Amino acid sequence: MPRPAHRIAQAISARDSLFASSAFGLSLSKPCPSLLHLRRKAGLRQAQAERIRVSEFREEPMATRSLYCTNCRFRLSAPLIMASGKDPAVEEPYVRIGKPLIDRGTSYKSWKPMPWLHVPPGHPLDFLPQIWMDPGDLTERVHDSPDGERLSGCCGPLGMNGPNKVCTCKVHVGTLQADCCTPVVFIPDPGATSWREGSADFWDYP
Ligand SMILES: [Zn+2]
Ligand SMILES: [Zn+2]
Repeated sequence: MPRPAHRIAQAISARDSLFASSAFGLSLSKPCPSLLHLRRKAGLRQAQAERIRVSEFREEPMATRSLYCTNCRFRLSAPLIMASGKDPAVEEPYVRIGKPLIDRGTSYKSWKPMPWLHVPPGHPLDFLPQIWMDPGDLTERVHDSPDGERLSGCCGPLGMNGPNKVCTCKVHVGTLQADCCTPVVFIPDPGATSWREGSADFWDYP
């Protein structure tokens, strides 16, 4: 018959105090594995509590959101965990030219201008905050712009001639940068898209 949980806890706590008192002359060479397990769990709880304290400083809670087209309301991305550049626990993405900037499944809200290209005032990418995500997380509803000028670049789209990706409803929804002087990143246009919690295919509420 299994022992009641509180009896096990009592037994472990008795052994714990025995171990603690070994400094006073009692010899117990090693704590039992279940005691170590409980201590690890207590450590985890402590780490969780610290994370909660950190999260109080977040400008918004880290949440899973999907990108939607504001015009047709269809979902344009996989659900992504959005981290904010204002969160002290979040590291800035490491920029490597020609390489993906953001891990698949996540997005990063930047409150600073992109450090890899100078964006002149009045340019279509001259807005903050910007959300950066991997283009591989876009759904099949997103296609290249029919305006070839916007896709111009040397090895790939430089993304400096205006939004170069369109939703199937024909609205330009954001900018892909994938040239040899940029990392690989997709930047949604905040005027044409919105982020919603969940992963419904269609944003069907006001
Ligand atoms: Zn659309
Ligand atoms: Zn190039």
